[in-house]
This record gives sequence, C-alpha cells and structure tokens, in this order.
Amino acid sequence: MNLKPQRTDVLVVGAGPAGIAAAIAAATHGSKVLVLDDNAAEGGQIWRRDIATTLNPARPEVQDARQAALRAAFHKSGAELLPGRRVVDAPRPGILHTIADTPAGPMPESFAWDRLILATGARERFMPFPGWTLPGVVGAGGLQALVKGGYPVAGRRVIVAGTGPLLLAVAAHLRHYGARIVCIVEQAALSQLAPFAASLWSHPAKVKQGIRYRAALANVPYSIGWWPVAVEKASSGILVRLTNGKRTLAEPCDLLACGFHLVPNTELAELLGCKRNGDVVDVNEQQQTSVPGIFCAGEPTGIAGLDAALVQGEIAGLAAAGQTQHSSVLRRKRAKEHAFGQRLNTAFRLRPEVCSLSGPETIVCRCEDVNFAQLQGHDSWTEAKLQTRCGMGPCQGRICGPAVQSLFGWRTTSVRPPIFPVPIGAFGNNDSESLEDLTKFQETE
Ligand SMILES: Cc1cc2nc3c(=O)[nH]c(=O)nc-3n(C[C@H](O)[C@H](O)[C@H](O)COP(=O)(O)OP(=O)(O)OC[C@H]3O[C@@H](n4cnc5c(N)ncnc54)[C@H](O)[C@@H]3O)c2cc1C
Repeated sequence: MNLKPQRTDVLVVGAGPAGIAAAIAAATHGSKVLVLDDNAAEGGQIWRRDIATTLNPARPEVQDARQAALRAAFHKSGAELLPGRRVVDAPRPGILHTIADTPAGPMPESFAWDRLILATGARERFMPFPGWTLPGVVGAGGLQALVKGGYPVAGRRVIVAGTGPLLLAVAAHLRHYGARIVCIVEQAALSQLAPFAASLWSHPAKVKQGIRYRAALANVPYSIGWWPVAVEKASSGILVRLTNGKRTLAEPCDLLACGFHLVPNTELAELLGCKRNGDVVDVNEQQQTSVPGIFCAGEPTGIAGLDAALVQGEIAGLAAAGQTQHSSVLRRKRAKEHAFGQRLNTAFRLRPEVCSLSGPETIVCRCEDVNFAQLQGHDSWTEAKLQTRCGMGPCQGRICGPAVQSLFGWRTTSVRPPIFPVPIGAFGNNDSESLEDLTKFQETE
C-alpha cells in the first residue's frame, strides 16, 4: 500500500493539555506543527468536549478561563489539528502511521517528522474483583466520557469507587447531570491521605478545586479506607459489596463507576525505542527522551495532573522549536508539579488488599476471557500470554496489563505494532491487493 507521508517540522501526538501547550510553544516559535489525536476535537481527557451540553442548551458547557484561553491560543498559533487520527505504528525513524476516521471509513495515512512530541496521556487502572465485568460496572473516567458524549445518567443511582482525585471530579460531573451519587468510596487510608492534603498549602488552586468538588457533592458520603470487593446482579440494578477490612456493607445501585488511579500511556514511546524509568518515559530537562528528536510531555512521564502537563508541554514545544534556554520560572514550576505528582502517587497507591480480591473464577483479561486461576502458576507475562492469550485481545493488554502487574508483579516486555487494532476496512479503502499490503504500508517519497 503506497502512502505519501505528510511532512512537518514538529509532529505532536495527543491534543490534551500537554500536546496543546507543546503545539502552541513550537508553532509560535516558527515551526510548522501538526497535531494528531484520535478524538474529534482537542482537549484530551480533562477538557473532552461535552456533547451533552450542545444537546441541552439549558446546561451550557463550563469552560474555565484557562481552558478557553488555551484553546484560543492553540487555534491562533498556526498549529494544525488533525483529529480522528490514531497513531498505530512507527515503521522506521521519522515516520508514523495512523488510521484516520473519514466519511468513507478508516483510512491509513503516513506522517514524516523532524521532531516528535509524544503527549499520549494516561488511562484508568482497573483492578479485577468478582463481578467487575458485569453490566453496570464501568470505569469512573469512562462513565464521565460517556456522559460527555450524551449518555443519560439523570436519576440513576451511582457508586463512585476506587482511588484517586478523579473520583471526586467524576462524581461532581455525574451529579451535575442529575445522577444520584449513593457514595464515593476511596480505598486509600486516612494515614496516606492526611499528609497529602496537608502538603497542598503550596497549591492553592488545587485546594480551591477540591473545595468546589466537595461543595458540588454536599451530602454525598465520602468513605475513606473502603473499597469494593464484589458486585452481584440484583432484581433492579446491581448490589455492590464494600469493605474497610473489618466491616462489609452491601449497597444497591444502578452503576458502579470504578477506577484505581491512572496508568501512563507509554506504548508509542516504547515502540519508538524511548527508554522507560520504571513505569514512565524517561526524559531530560528539555523533555527529550533517550531518542534524539523525540520529546515527551504530560502523563506518560508520570501521573501529576493538569499543571504538570501544561508546563511540560510548553518546555517540550520550546525545545522542539530549538528554544532550549527556558526561564527559571518554567523550570521551578515543573519541579513543583513533579513533586506534587510524587506525593499524589504515594497518597493513592494501591493497598495490598485491593491486589488480592480475585477469586479463581474472576476474569482478569476480559478480551480473551482469561480468569485468575488460569494465570496462576506462570512465571512471567510472556509465558502467561503464550499459554492463555492473556493481553492478546483488542485492548492489547491496556486493561489487564497493569492489573496483572499489580496481581503477579509481571511487567510487559515488549510493545509490537500495531499498538491499536487496525480495522480491516482501512485496507479495503485503498487499492491494496497483496497479503503483504495488509500487514505493512510503504511510503512513497
Ligand atoms: C479517563 C480520564 C478522565 C480524566 N478526567 C479528569 C477530570 O475530570 N479532571 C481532572 O482534573 N483530571 C482528569 N483526568 C486527568 C487528566 O487527564 C490529567 O491530569 C492531564 O490533564 C493529562 O493531560 P495530558 O495532555 O498529559 O493527557 P490527556 O489529556 O490524556 O491527552 C492525551 C491525548 O492523546 C490522545 N492519544 C493517545 N494515544 C494516541 C495515539 N496513539 N494516537 C492518537 N492520539 C492519541 C488521547 O486520545 C488524548 O486525547 C482524567 C484522566 C483520564 C485518564
């Protein structure tokens, strides 16, 4: 399949806060910038466009001043957003392959870059427990995204459970859309959360945001040191069993929105040969990875929130445009947000009990229906994959990989292309005939 790559100075993957900040910085310093994102608009996870509000003008989309200013600066910067493009492969240095959503169906495309900025964000961590694959159990951030896409939750009873600050943001959002939040259940112990809360004095904006969420969730019980252990079908909705290790309660609801903090999306960086430091992409002072010309910003370099994503994105964009002398203000801000991220990840680390909720029959890999008992007895992720197909389904281990790491301590060993499944229609929409074309696209210069 012959594809002529579209060439640019700076290619940004991901149009979340980090990617937008990077694109603005690079474009305003004279670089030709293209931004690829698999969503229909810029904004990433936190600023995902709220379609529900366009359907209901009585509830206008709430855009804070910073979000509105950044979107405006992005559109003025000269950077070009190419939405609906998912990067699936990096076949050789300087080239990325994407699958684009077009009215004619999925289409393969190719991009050639001089400098690349990876701003691929993070995803939720899911932990298996009996019943977690039942209808009615959804990711917390996943439900938030569904609601922004128009899914109605008005009047529905929702338990929000798991760990991390995302739980409060999601619960406040769902309540805004009329959901009845039964309770918010945070697995972290008070002894973990108290020092984190006390350290927030140096981040007044984050404190204000937390207060706003709590005000929006007035009268909603927030249980610290509790976690879900099982879900069962009920005559109406589902029954969620919750425990604090001493007592167990059964709460009926319609939906359990459950997520256990976030996992960095490092797959593309790994495919490109960028070194990891533990679970995150290793970067230097310029946000440059171990591969020259490739920069990384935002959540793939560590979960640290919006402010970290913005400042890292700006530094990466400046560096990619050749502006390597950053102001001390930017450096100090990045250091401060990095320290915040470390405290965040300590406060919301998983308690051991949450890593041992699976019974023998509990599904761990939901794509390939692999249960906990089938994984026991293997020594490594590779061996378990070969013997059970765990992690080899459509999500390619994005969901079960982090779970298996927490359950068994196994780490993924390699990333293979395509990093996302490629619809067969992508090839039908081109003039390919040979079998080889189905697995490999070639560029023409
Ligand atoms: C599900 C979810 C919901 C969240 N909701 C909130 C919230 O309500 N409030 C809050 O304060 N924080 C929220 N966060 C955290 C927030 O995302 C971070 O704090 C921060 O804003 C991340 O910015 P980022 O630019 O690094 O990543 P993101 O905002 O995640 O942006 C990354 C972008 O890259 C795109 N992408 C990734 N891989 C590819 C690829 N291969 N090809 C093309 N595009 C790709 C993604 O679709 C996404 O648009 C949420 C996180 C998640 C995972």
